[in-house]
Amino acid sequence: MKTIIEPFRIKSVEPIRMSTHDERVVCLKEAHYNLFAIPSQDVMIDLLTDSGTGAMSSEQWAAIMRGDESYAGAPSWFRFRDVMVDITGIENVLPTHQGRASERLLVEVMIGHGNAGIGKIVPNNAHFDTTRANIEHSGCTTIDLLTPEGQDPSTDAPFKGNMDLGALEALLSERADDVPFVMVTVTCNSIGGQPVSLENIKGVRAICDRFNKPFFLDACRFAENAWFIKQREAGQGDRPVEDIAREMFDLCDGATISAKKDGIVNIGGVLLFRDKTLFDATSNLLILTEGYMTYGGLAGRDLDAMAVGFREVLREDYLRYRIRSTEYLGEKLLEAGIEIVRPAGGHAIYIDAAAFCPHIPSHEFPGQALACALYEEGGIRSCEIGSVMMGEHAHMELVRLAIPRRTYTQSHIDYVIEIILEVHKRASSLVGYRITEGPEALRHFTAKFEPIKQAAPTC
Ligand SMILES: *Cc1c(COP(=O)(O)O)cnc(C)c1O
Repeated sequence: MKTIIEPFRIKSVEPIRMSTHDERVVCLKEAHYNLFAIPSQDVMIDLLTDSGTGAMSSEQWAAIMRGDESYAGAPSWFRFRDVMVDITGIENVLPTHQGRASERLLVEVMIGHGNAGIGKIVPNNAHFDTTRANIEHSGCTTIDLLTPEGQDPSTDAPFKGNMDLGALEALLSERADDVPFVMVTVTCNSIGGQPVSLENIKGVRAICDRFNKPFFLDACRFAENAWFIKQREAGQGDRPVEDIAREMFDLCDGATISAKKDGIVNIGGVLLFRDKTLFDATSNLLILTEGYMTYGGLAGRDLDAMAVGFREVLREDYLRYRIRSTEYLGEKLLEAGIEIVRPAGGHAIYIDAAAFCPHIPSHEFPGQALACALYEEGGIRSCEIGSVMMGEHAHMELVRLAIPRRTYTQSHIDYVIEIILEVHKRASSLVGYRITEGPEALRHFTAKFEPIKQAAPTC
């Protein structure tokens, strides 16, 4: 069958408030053309992020009712822990309120307090922004070691998230004493949800062994990564996806996980250590800011929702639908001649806004222009990832369409495609934006914009 259906029936719905074009023009203006400032009630299809926006299953909701509240050692904790140990094989499990709390603790235990990171460097295939920020907060520097193929958005390759093993080896040969640990992000969010191959993870392990370095996975989308390995890596096609995921974890010394992604919950995170001494040290730090180590800043019901979500995410019918539905959106845009980061990632499609509106220069924010136009045309909220978000560090002008898990149906996605094609037809009429007010750092969240009026035609 060519059509892959959503492998679920819908039994509880959240109405979408339908808005009109005129209403959206007003909303945009009131939000100073910053989509973060638009209340989600005024958004029809919200593709701002896939984090914490997925739909929980009836089993997860049942688990929430089953959740027990206790400070220490509630049944919810044991159910959650047993699932994590079963999936990952890593015995030392800490719950946290979300991924960045896991990252902060990892940095504190592996690098130290205060400015202990000065002079040190942590390599990753590509750091996610909160991972980078947490590491750099310690004074440590970060480096992204993607392969050249991973840095080229216009070509298709199966594992663009791979780490450049030669570069990792060179870094460790030169500065082994300065590297507290090595990280690999699966799938690689910063370059569009591109996967990392099992062979590459094995290569990183071998190099880490040679230099005696701990190796951690940023495993937010471990199940999507395992599915890509099953589909694309030689010799992996017949393995159950659980086995592949397990092998990924077998190769590392621990992991940070945001359960808001492949845990399919609205809040939650995990921190895993193979080493008991590191786990004990981190448990003490966890108590300072997150809570006791059997709840980590969450309620028992949240632990139960994660316990069910982490199992459901590994079901092959779910993963087949999940990855296909993202690919479907990418495929239709490519067919219409719209340039995207290739190939389609696991959780998002990135439109090349510079190619979409070639008449708008980077300093007039083509990504912002496209994101505003998609909202105005169809009530779709996307996210600019370009010169607004990254300032002078932007390599590309992208608009990200992140797909929440199990939330929208194919007709929602068909509508998104229709709106993008509609805007594409009149792309030459889109105008650039200027920032009228905004902070220096992380300005994309709060900056105010105004459209730059086109000069009146002279004839
Ligand atoms: C979302 C994310 C994080 C941070 O997780 P939060 O739950 O948002 O704190 C870290 N790494 C990657 C790759 C992510 O996608």
